[in-house]
Amino acid sequence: MRLLIMGPQGVGKGTQAAKLAEHFGIPTISTGDIFRYNIKNETELGKQALAFINKGQLVPDELTNSIVKDRLAQDDVKNGWILDGYPRNASQVEALDTMLAELGTPLDAVVALDADRDVLMERMMKRAEIEGRADDTPEAIATRLDVYAKETAPLLDIYSERGQLVSINGVGEIDAIQANIIAELTK
Ligand code: AMP
Repeated sequence: MRLLIMGPQGVGKGTQAAKLAEHFGIPTISTGDIFRYNIKNETELGKQALAFINKGQLVPDELTNSIVKDRLAQDDVKNGWILDGYPRNASQVEALDTMLAELGTPLDAVVALDADRDVLMERMMKRAEIEGRADDTPEAIATRLDVYAKETAPLLDIYSERGQLVSINGVGEIDAIQANIIAELTK
């Protein structure tokens, strides 16, 4: 199973991706996690990504596309994967299309979670208190939601036209949302 999980920040993508990964026995590839790991370990990639991430802006495509390309070439993702947080703009969709065509591994489905902006703001402010992420300031959160609305939300139309979009309500019990996703994917 090769899946994208999409939706605005705070909608529960990470939580649902982890559960789906367990259910299907495949790894999750989270570009946000890869960036955070590199920032923590003060790598060159981490240094280049830090300023963008702290402002809530997208990291430049060349950097982001190349980490995904490297990750998709690794052995543990041969039988499937869930991409969480990528693609986030039209040029990343194109880059991913090229990578998957080269690998000969087409996408199975795109799971899109959604919730109202006030629910998302509240969830992210709560997460900020618990996790203390550097990019969870109110300004960075607002920027991330704006970037999502402007650059990422339109991508759902592309996948819908391709007949790959599975839209799921992101408000409710975690397990009930998970059950909805699996029911839709295994229809
Ligand atoms: P996330 O954990 O997915 O919310 O990602 C945290 C931050 O990492 C984002 O606000 C961006 O600055 C950066 N990031 C993650 N994925 C991408 C991507 N696909 N393209 C550009 N920047 C990204």
